[in-house]
Parts: sequence; C-alpha cells; structure tokens
Amino acid sequence: MNDEFSVPVSVPLDADGFLRRECPNCEEEFKWFSHAEGDPDAEPVDQYFCPRCGQGAGLDSWWTPAQLDYASGAAAPAVDDFINNALDDVFKGLKSNKHFKVTRTGHYSSEIPTPEPLHEPNDMVIVEPPCHPSEPVKVPEDATGRVYCLVCGSPFAA
Ligand SMILES: [Zn+2]
Ligand SMILES: [Zn+2]
Repeated sequence: MNDEFSVPVSVPLDADGFLRRECPNCEEEFKWFSHAEGDPDAEPVDQYFCPRCGQGAGLDSWWTPAQLDYASGAAAPAVDDFINNALDDVFKGLKSNKHFKVTRTGHYSSEIPTPEPLHEPNDMVIVEPPCHPSEPVKVPEDATGRVYCLVCGSPFAA
C-alpha cells in the first residue's frame, strides 16, 4: 500500500471557463482562466501573481475557503475507503487459529456529509494583461483600474 494517495475533486468553472480564486495575501477574490490540459497558450509558471495586490504565491495557494470545504467533503468517501482497505490489510496479516479468532467488525467512517455541488456564478469582468493576453483574469467591476498580470505581476489598467 502507498503512503500517499490523491483524490481528484473537480471544482466548477463559470460560463466563460474561469475558476474562482482567493489570494492568500490580500484575501480578495478573482478568477483565472482555466486552460485545458496541454493548451499551448498556457504559460508554464511556478507561481502566480495576484491580480488584486500583485503578490506572488505558489500554484496551490489560491483555493477559496468554499472550495477547500467542498474538496474535503467530496474526498471523504475515498479517504474512508482508503482507510478501510488499509485496515483490511492489517486484519489479513493477523492469523486466526483455534485459540484466537481475529475478525474485523467495525467499519471506519469519517462521517463527513457529502457536500452540495458548488455553483459558480458568472460574475466579475474579464481583463487581459497587455503583456500576457493569453492569460486573462476576471476581477470585480470596481477593481479594473489597477490589475496585476497573473504571470509576471506587471500592473495594468483595464
Ligand atoms: Zn492579493
Ligand atoms: Zn504579464
């Protein structure tokens, strides 16, 4: 058995294909365009810059609290299965004999309820950084006066 496993959890995109994000620095929300896997327009980066405050952070730092809640709930059944399979392995390794009978009666459950699917409203306005037009972002209408490029952090006005 592996020490690590991952559970794919999908979060919805809005009608324009944008994914809601929250900056770990300023905690403001924006959206970035979710490129399809293998899209040649996707910029290979190891960090993104917040369009709202211009601070950079690693690729995995941008989940909104609602997305994290949803992901832990949606992953719970797979986590339960993983733990139960691991327990089965442990019990298989314990041999019963005529003096000592090993049976497993419990079933592990994290008892996290399956979450309601996330709904992504088609809010905010699309802005394209002049330096990286293939990486548009969405920001609230009142935040378009100063936006930072997701890829390089250069400020621009939409
Ligand atoms: Zn920010
Ligand atoms: Zn740029």
